[in-house]
Amino acid sequence: MPLLLGDRHQLLKSTLPEPLSSNRTDEPAGLKQDPAPRPRQPGRDATMDDMASSQHRISTRIGAITESATLAVDAKARALKAAGRPVIGFGVGEPDFPTPDYIVEAAQRACAVPRYQKYSPAAGLPELREAIAVKTARDSGYEVTPGQVVVTNGGKQAVYEAFATLIDPGDEVLMPAPYWTTYPEAIGLAGGTPVPVMTDETSGYLTSVADLERHRTDRTKVLLFVSPSNPTGAVYPPELVAEIGHWAAEHGLWVITDEIYEHLVYGDARFTSIAVAAPELADRVVVLNGVAKTYAMTGWRVGWMIAPPDVAKAAADLQSHLTSNVCNVAQAAALTAVSGDLSAVARMREAFDRRRLLMTGMLNEIPGVVCPLPDGAFYCYPSVKEVVGKELAGRRPANTTELAELVLDEVDVAVVPGEAFGTPGYFRLSCALGDADLEEGVTRLGKLLAQAR
Ligand code: PMP
Repeated sequence: MPLLLGDRHQLLKSTLPEPLSSNRTDEPAGLKQDPAPRPRQPGRDATMDDMASSQHRISTRIGAITESATLAVDAKARALKAAGRPVIGFGVGEPDFPTPDYIVEAAQRACAVPRYQKYSPAAGLPELREAIAVKTARDSGYEVTPGQVVVTNGGKQAVYEAFATLIDPGDEVLMPAPYWTTYPEAIGLAGGTPVPVMTDETSGYLTSVADLERHRTDRTKVLLFVSPSNPTGAVYPPELVAEIGHWAAEHGLWVITDEIYEHLVYGDARFTSIAVAAPELADRVVVLNGVAKTYAMTGWRVGWMIAPPDVAKAAADLQSHLTSNVCNVAQAAALTAVSGDLSAVARMREAFDRRRLLMTGMLNEIPGVVCPLPDGAFYCYPSVKEVVGKELAGRRPANTTELAELVLDEVDVAVVPGEAFGTPGYFRLSCALGDADLEEGVTRLGKLLAQAR
């Protein structure tokens, strides 16, 4: 049985003191799937086993974590493809370009450097922390010292460490929805309560100060702010970034801001760092970023967080026990990436721009599908609410998880259902695949969905 995200939060909350006051009116929404089944020991009956597994084998904290839905969709698509099915995968969130040669060559050279063959400081190579501080001032205008930078194993580890460092049990985190699937897990693991703040296609998936304020309580500690957004591609205009930043500062909130898609914005949209738009946040803002999306380096696993010095030090202490330093060869590659120019991302941006226009246009021609044009990142996030519950290919999918399964079964197209992002009724499609596949995949999807009755 699917576990409601709201249920999990209720579960988390039931062990915690109630908020002192709450002006919230709606409950968190979104579906989670059961954790993966665990292997059985021979000779034990199912009931005993289930009890043992739920009570003793896996901790409650870790047992509540679900597999990353985006990685799961991608794994299933790859497996079907390997079995000979003509699958087109829109699931994965990574550029379809190779890492630029000059970055790969820097890594090859780094392998032979004796210093890189040994442990290095947990917070990152000093030369990389310095380069990240310089790059941040260049790209977003946010001035920081190298001591504020902690180099992490991908942006994902920066997300975990940021929440682990700031959150105590019972603290609430405002999290505009749709949200990237990893955030609620990282918040929950730290003992915090993620509080989704719903948005939809009618506002271009942008939240407002009024909506955020409605969800703020005495326990709210952090606002999570992501622009450009995964999964919607929404980019907040500079005035709204500043307004939200000023509001957060006024109420003494921390802001954790994920800037990993900073260079992937299109048309008239402009990336704005909330740390720059609301400079009074400086003592309570954590910037998350990484090389994965900008330099097509998803497999290299280098990200970072930038925080006030005491928070950076605490996160580095955590990392010193968790993973020690990030692989030095990968750090050397990242050093070359962030110290170099932005021509590689400019070429990718051109391709993604063309594809987001093509994909959005095609999606909006499908009956029952509504898709705002994404201004950033490389995802389209269409509403397919009109199709859910209708009869299609002899089935009647009750939600977007079932609809996504049907789409994969019937036309070999893999998409991520909105449940993974806290908003049932939507699909996420990545534009990071070749133009021909993209066109073929959306054509197949359109032909199928048009048959819904
Ligand atoms: N933040 C967002 C919004 C993302 O979409 C991703 C990757 N999907 C990450 C962080 C993490 O990226 P990585 O761990 O690959 O650096």
